[in-house]
Amino acid sequence: MIQKSSNLFQRAQQVIPGGVNSPVRAFKAVGGNPLFMASAKGPYLFDEDGNQYLDFINSWGPMILGHACETVEKAVQDALGKSFSFGAPTRREVEMAELIVQMVPSLEKVRMVNSGTEATMSAIRVARGFTGKDKIIKFEGCYHGHGDSFLISAGSGAITLGVPDSPGVTKGVAQDTITVPFNNLAAVKVAVEANAGQIAAIILEPVVGNMGLVPPVKGFLQGLRDLCTQQNIVLIFDEVMTGFRLAKGGAQELYNVLPDMTTLGKIIGGGMPVGAYGGKKEIMDCVAPAGPVYQAGTLSGNPIAMAAGFAMLTYLNEHPEVYAYLENLTSKLVEGMQANLAKLNLAYTINRVGSMFSIFFTPDPVTDFESAKQSDLALFGQYFNSMLRQGIYLAPSQFESLFVSIALTDKLADQYIAANLAALQVIHQL
Ligand code: PMP
Repeated sequence: MIQKSSNLFQRAQQVIPGGVNSPVRAFKAVGGNPLFMASAKGPYLFDEDGNQYLDFINSWGPMILGHACETVEKAVQDALGKSFSFGAPTRREVEMAELIVQMVPSLEKVRMVNSGTEATMSAIRVARGFTGKDKIIKFEGCYHGHGDSFLISAGSGAITLGVPDSPGVTKGVAQDTITVPFNNLAAVKVAVEANAGQIAAIILEPVVGNMGLVPPVKGFLQGLRDLCTQQNIVLIFDEVMTGFRLAKGGAQELYNVLPDMTTLGKIIGGGMPVGAYGGKKEIMDCVAPAGPVYQAGTLSGNPIAMAAGFAMLTYLNEHPEVYAYLENLTSKLVEGMQANLAKLNLAYTINRVGSMFSIFFTPDPVTDFESAKQSDLALFGQYFNSMLRQGIYLAPSQFESLFVSIALTDKLADQYIAANLAALQVIHQL
């Protein structure tokens, strides 16, 4: 029964474009109507009709401690009653910045914003201001939010809905964004040579979550690091998904490659709308009022959002065992899926890094956008719906990663693996 969700979707479509406030939520790529959520606790979501789902989106990452986690809830409750916003600096913002700088290896200074999109838009403005150069290099299938400069060969919802190059982005903006295939260092070098002295920044998701999960091949990140150092290009790791998730210090800690700038989001708000960008002192000191590059925000550093984020980051900082738990549990999920595939004589590709993973409905390795696009999207849609009928809530697109939280138990992992087997049997009529 999803009657209430269906009714709400009908109403929503009258007053909200496509009935949703972010495109992938509309379930367009998988058919059927989106479910309207009423509440969530631990590993479970509950929709308006009272159905329960085991959640593998976890708000696209931030719910790493599970839904309605008491530590974060309590911090928010403590912040209530002291006003929701001051428009003036607060102690918590200082503590938050100190904690982020301590946890993320390459950061020396950080500025809070309200979303991942704001973080990446601001970061490239600063990189341009710092270097005095205009162009940026991004990778096909990487998603960096909906800033004009990034809606070129974009992943995530943009590719899910078939608009990787959005109308509304001017030719002038588009020509300053150069796109190259992910994991292809040679192509990056060619692009840098062809635009000698003009590239301000190279931006990438060090582990891509937005074309499904795609890890960097060995040497790719270090190769970019060396190239950027040689060519005076600002290397930006967009760790909006990977930050504080793949390790305490994000992908840069895991792969031991330090960017010049980092963008962060989602998780640092503990579920509240927060983003941040930061980097080396000399770069960040270009930002107003310390320097001339303007960037601002009325609600930036919002006290309620800072309370939630600070509680979550403090927990992660003080409980490094979270990462070992997530690593073990997610590897169990993937091993279970691989055993299912073997049992059914099927060959699909599963990629995983830490607690992020994807199953691609293609037998070939997925290392970039082209290979990700070889996936059978119709089959993915059937798989998604079969999992949903079994109470497992996956990302409604082949081009998204799944996220595991510490609220997932060993027993629930078994439930997921059993559902995966059943779904594979259903879609292949085995
Ligand atoms: N960068 C990356 C890597 C992302 O995954 C996202 C969102 N999925 C963004 C930027 C944009 O963040 P937001 O949706 O908070 O604007």
